[in-house]
Amino acid sequence: MHELSISNAIATVALDHAGERDVRSVQVRVGVLRQIVPESLTFCWEVVSRQPRLVGSTLEIEQVPGVVECSDCGARSTLTEYVLRCLACGSGLVKVLSGEEFLVTSIDVASADPPSAGVTSGGTPKDRMPVGTERKEG
Ligand SMILES: [Zn+2]
Repeated sequence: MHELSISNAIATVALDHAGERDVRSVQVRVGVLRQIVPESLTFCWEVVSRQPRLVGSTLEIEQVPGVVECSDCGARSTLTEYVLRCLACGSGLVKVLSGEEFLVTSIDVASADPPSAGVTSGGTPKDRMPVGTERKEG
């Protein structure tokens, strides 16, 4: 399954950056032209995250719309699905400007220090680590 291998790749990046700490959540940016179904990715993450330091972590998916530029009429179209076509004139001669991203943007890890007693939810600061590792497939 496409999404499962992607989830594994995300897990590898997250664990690399987390070091010895537990991962709380992982933020990823995915272009719609990647044809990744967010629901599938979330489901696969639940499977992949059943391993040390990922247990209970969540995957936060930010979808990037696809933008193409028409080679015939020059119009720019924002695509919400995987149809590479100019929305102005219908031409299939388009250049992809964005929408093919697959990027782990940051991860939240548990604080290195154990949380002090009596801290309620939301009171524990989390460490957000920028990742910014673009992964190209194929
Ligand atoms: Zn056009």
